[in-house]
Amino acid sequence: MANIGDATTEQETDANTAHGYVARAYAARHATSGLGRTTIRRRQPGAHDVQIDILFCGVCHSDLHQVRNEWSEAGNPTIYPCVPGHEIVGRVSKIGASVSKFKAGDLAAVGCMVDSDRVCPECQAGLEQYCPNMVGTYNSTDQHLGGVTYGGYSDNIVVDERYVLRAPANLDLAGVAPLLCAGITTYSPLRHWGITTGKKVGIVGLGGLGHMGVKIAHALGAHVVVFSTSSNKKEDALRLGADEVVISRNASEMEKHLGSFDFILDAVSADHDINAYINLLRRDGNITLVGAPAQPLPAAAFGLIMRRRSLSGSMIGGIAETQQMLDFCGDHNITADVEVIPIQKINEAYERLLRSDVKYRFSIDMASLKAE
Ligand code: NAP
Ligand code: ZN
Repeated sequence: MANIGDATTEQETDANTAHGYVARAYAARHATSGLGRTTIRRRQPGAHDVQIDILFCGVCHSDLHQVRNEWSEAGNPTIYPCVPGHEIVGRVSKIGASVSKFKAGDLAAVGCMVDSDRVCPECQAGLEQYCPNMVGTYNSTDQHLGGVTYGGYSDNIVVDERYVLRAPANLDLAGVAPLLCAGITTYSPLRHWGITTGKKVGIVGLGGLGHMGVKIAHALGAHVVVFSTSSNKKEDALRLGADEVVISRNASEMEKHLGSFDFILDAVSADHDINAYINLLRRDGNITLVGAPAQPLPAAAFGLIMRRRSLSGSMIGGIAETQQMLDFCGDHNITADVEVIPIQKINEAYERLLRSDVKYRFSIDMASLKAE
């Protein structure tokens, strides 16, 4: 793909300055442009900052939603140029004078946020993802350089150490990257809703999030049932740790599970009928949406009223919980099943995501960007 043009002004790209420097990236110019090569500006590491040489970046369906401006009506319009990517793993290349957690050469990881206000009740509770001033890894206001934050489809990134995680050294790094979003987004609600041995858990949609949900719920000891629209994913689901697989288009297969689930995690990226899943919950059962389709999903009141069921949502996880999840995955040898791609294949990867044709996460080998 051709260079889509610099994200910075000509004057800015002239030189690396005391405040910032030029990094390589892939960006979308507008909602239908696709992604192409560009350069962006990063800040020079400040006292508390860690500069990370990015090795792998996972490809989340949220990247696709954002790049194509699909969340505009949901209150999250895209600011272009947009450099997505929030499943980042790499090595520390430089640290600021006050950094204590990292040194040059360490493995480091960054997820969906790079800052928050640190003083609000959410931050105080370790739930920075719900901070009203949370700064997303991409598409948020850049507090340092102005403009917008740029994500991990890039050769490096600079982040305050407080928002940088330690990656387990015993795991394959291409498969670690997706833990930073798909891993924590499924781990957090499974823990919040007390999933443990003996609980019956449903995972809806076997994509990037879904397959991590299966692995983590299985490791927590749950009886895991996968709901998939794709009959060709059945064997994989069992291999990943599911105890049962239901092809959700088959009404009689669905009916067998009526009123039986403690918890269902819905990780579907597109419009679908959530009532079919609400009806599968037992008394006081909960269904949590982590999938973020652009359009509202109507819920029938009676499905919830009957059996005192609840419907909720969940967004990624806090920084401490993300570290806990990474350590848990290190201890249980859990990584994402990845198809490693060069960044030049990113537009093709997005088309395949839309066809549910990924097993089960694309992970970009950032050496491909450095080699361009
Ligand atoms: P993904 O890899 O594309 O997986 C989505 C899966 O949903 C597909 O593999 C497919 O599974 C199923 N699906 C797709 N279209 C469907 C349809 N029309 N009807 C029923 N099922 C369908 O996406 P992902 O990266 O896992 O992300 C999933 C969603 O979670 C996205 O909306 C994303 O933005 C959101 N997300 C939310 C958070 C959060 O913090 N809450 C974090 C990350 C991502 P089967 O083939 O098995 O049916
Ligand atoms: Zn994500």
